[in-house]
Amino acid sequence: MDLQIWLDGKLVPKKEACISVYDHGLLYGDGIFEGIRQYNGRVFEKEAHLQRLYESAQAIRLTIPYAKEQLARALDETLAANHFRDAYIRLVVTRGVGYLGISPKNCETPSVFIIADTIQMYPHEMYDKGMSIITASTIRNHPNSLSPKVKSLNYLNNILAKWEAIDAGVPEAVMLNHLGYVCECTGDNIFIVKNGQLLTPPEDAGILVGITRQAVLGLAREANIPAFERSLTRFDLYSADECFLTGTGAEVVPVTRIDNRPIGSGVGPLTRQLSEAFHRRVREG
Ligand code: PMP
Repeated sequence: MDLQIWLDGKLVPKKEACISVYDHGLLYGDGIFEGIRQYNGRVFEKEAHLQRLYESAQAIRLTIPYAKEQLARALDETLAANHFRDAYIRLVVTRGVGYLGISPKNCETPSVFIIADTIQMYPHEMYDKGMSIITASTIRNHPNSLSPKVKSLNYLNNILAKWEAIDAGVPEAVMLNHLGYVCECTGDNIFIVKNGQLLTPPEDAGILVGITRQAVLGLAREANIPAFERSLTRFDLYSADECFLTGTGAEVVPVTRIDNRPIGSGVGPLTRQLSEAFHRRVREG
């Protein structure tokens, strides 16, 4: 059966779910989105995702034409219509249809759509054996330019870094910030373990404040693993005992090689512990 897409208040079959070529989301990347997961019939961190969406909207002066509760219901409706119990959900708000020319003033009504589908970010064996990543020469957007806290439809910054990963034959790339500190990957946040401590770059490094990142920090605290948000350099990555990435699509994925340097000796114990705790949390709530 054709997937049902929620588009501007209605469920429509996938092939009828169309957006105008005059939509500024397409013409200028003017819009925002969320990637959300449903596990075992429950949407993981629904409120946190909606909160981040409305904050992104506020930051780019976009008024979402629905209340948060309405969008929460729309999410559930979309999942139910497609009979999903485990899904990846893409919730998108575009600036809407306007004229040619960047002014958002000409766009009357933002468009909202919700796709529920499935996703597999990385091959299965990488979760067992770990993945290789590189550091990209493309730096993350300067936070005073387009704040990485805004989950905007303009992913060119990340896509340019992703090209570097593709060229190097690896699935992900770490971006540094404008000061040379470790920031995040193209679609994931990054953690290292050093001497029993869990470390991840702070928000003001200029990262998307990942919801999986927050969940993992919470799980570490519950497990009495000392966890800190700390500025990291490439040296810290290279000399880490363990490294892993987090994201809604990626979940918790171990990293065992960075710029061709081995990290630790295979997938580390804290990475395994946190990954297992994460899987328990998303299934059991
Ligand atoms: N950083 C970037 C740039 C991302 O696009 C994402 C989401 N794919 C993340 C981090 C992880 O965020 P979350 O855990 O909320 O999915």
